[in-house]
Amino acid sequence: MNNLSCKISNFENSTVITNVGVFNFVSSLFPEKHIRPITEIRYVDRYYSLVSNHSLDRLLITGSNVTSQWSIDQKTGQETIEIFRQNPEGNTDVIRMKSDIAHEIGHSVFNHLPEDKRVDYEAIWSTNKKQRPDIRAANYVAEDFCYAYAMFFLEREKLLSNSHQKFDFIKGLI
Ligand SMILES: [Zn+2]
Repeated sequence: MNNLSCKISNFENSTVITNVGVFNFVSSLFPEKHIRPITEIRYVDRYYSLVSNHSLDRLLITGSNVTSQWSIDQKTGQETIEIFRQNPEGNTDVIRMKSDIAHEIGHSVFNHLPEDKRVDYEAIWSTNKKQRPDIRAANYVAEDFCYAYAMFFLEREKLLSNSHQKFDFIKGLI
């Protein structure tokens, strides 16, 4: 896939990956149909701590901060992924940044799932609480899906040892 339709912007300011680097990551790894609904993937050089009241998507247990967000404009249907600064001083972890991008693409995919598929995933999610990677995933089926989605593309072995059902479900979406 070379004709990525979504705009990728401002990653030069992240200091750990360029726009071209994100383009190559996204276009080489994810199915084009999963990227098509997304208008823009943008780096935002702003740090959000837990105490900020920004409508944050992701709470990282390890860092106790939030580093990414997927959002959809209800009027235009435009979807945006924002990747935020990892630490007050800046960014150090490109693997985590890629994992955040994958997680947020997962939110778009989950949002576009047909109702019957969503019900199927919810059934997998509700059957085994031990398979949920963290508290966010334990509380929200969408979060659990996004962790599994990111693992499918970045840590396949980990997902397979976590849950074959989740692996097969995501494989079925490709
Ligand atoms: Zn999330």
